[in-house]
Amino acid sequence: MNICDLRMSLQVDTVGREMYQFISDLYPICRSITGNGFRETLHNIQRHMPLEIHEIATGSQVFDWTVPKEWNIRDAYVKNSRGERIIDFRKSNLHVVNYSVPIRKKMSLSELKEHLFTLPDHPDWIPYRTSYYKESWGFCLSHKQWSALEDEEYEVYIDASLENGHLTYGECYFQGNELNEVLISCHACHPSLCNDNLSGIALAVFLAKYLHSLPLRYSYRFLFIPGTIGSITWLCLNEHQVSKIKHGLVLANVGDSGSSTYKKSRRSDAEIDRAAIHVLKHCGEDYEIVDFSPYGYDERQFCSPAFNLPVGCLMRTPHGCFPEYHTSADNLDLVQPSYLANSFLKCLSVLSVLENNLTYINKNPKCEPQLGKRGLYRAIGGPEGDVDELAMLWVLNLSDGSHSLLDIATQSGYPFEMIQRAANVLQEHSLLKEQSL
Ligand SMILES: [Zn+2]
Repeated sequence: MNICDLRMSLQVDTVGREMYQFISDLYPICRSITGNGFRETLHNIQRHMPLEIHEIATGSQVFDWTVPKEWNIRDAYVKNSRGERIIDFRKSNLHVVNYSVPIRKKMSLSELKEHLFTLPDHPDWIPYRTSYYKESWGFCLSHKQWSALEDEEYEVYIDASLENGHLTYGECYFQGNELNEVLISCHACHPSLCNDNLSGIALAVFLAKYLHSLPLRYSYRFLFIPGTIGSITWLCLNEHQVSKIKHGLVLANVGDSGSSTYKKSRRSDAEIDRAAIHVLKHCGEDYEIVDFSPYGYDERQFCSPAFNLPVGCLMRTPHGCFPEYHTSADNLDLVQPSYLANSFLKCLSVLSVLENNLTYINKNPKCEPQLGKRGLYRAIGGPEGDVDELAMLWVLNLSDGSHSLLDIATQSGYPFEMIQRAANVLQEHSLLKEQSL
């Protein structure tokens, strides 16, 4: 079975449900950019795919950044004067500002309020806040709950540690026919947030799971890293081998109901850009293409000027563009199996284009070959579907060694698979040969 057969034979609904179940399993874990929540997440991933776990010591210099202290949290609460846990980490890990330093103290409401964060516009939601690079503490709660706080003495307790330790990330590499690589990267550093972080992780895991057993042209590298500091660390440690990355995708926010969005690489016309745009254009659904910008996810680091890697970002609704973003409403209701499955299929289609985007030479370039005498005139049926005669004419005409199949698909307006099928048939009839052969 190759990647095209996989796309045809896949039980997409089942994959969507499996991805959703995987997200449900990871949802309760309190992740951060370092610490045991991140490790536990990687151990869960290891149940589905081989994964090498790397530990980089606190204080390691990575370009202009320093690997931070490791943060771990066991419990946290705010108790009222009756001893009730009115803000409780056990109910939602979003209640604690991620990376809060430990504290145990009694204080007045006004002192406490300086450390409380809410969303007045969405009074039932808990915001997600972090304080990675400034040592502080805080709690997040719904505005409704905040409004009901009485003027009394509170006991604040955060049982956390912020100490020398490690930054952890997961990496999986499998070799294809070529050493040239496709990089698939996702951030895995958010606590109970589904679309932002868990959906991208699930997509990467299930791509790896399905691709792993296939014969592949490219080698594949999957990264599960903490946002920003993770990609900076990985690039610093792997600077010597990034030239092997020929195509890359950052995956995030792929489980919501919005239409698919592709953010171009900094190069803007890399093969990954053209492949992703082609797939979205022919998917029969609404889609968005956005230009590169130096904010967003880890494409910012992969596309920093010294690397300028051909790495784009595949999303549904981009970060910050859905109201539930970075709140407790980015939960198991926001992501749905059907949207996850849809994103999986689109991603697989993009990779299928990359895998099959070969360049051919027309062996009969002096005028058109006579298709009729070869039984190729008029559309013919084959095991993979109909082969269109006009698609064959496009392939024959543009297969001069300087147009890849994706170039031909783009210029002709045909979907890539039709151009690929036409090329296969022409090759079977000895009218075409691969450029490198
Ligand atoms: Zn985020």
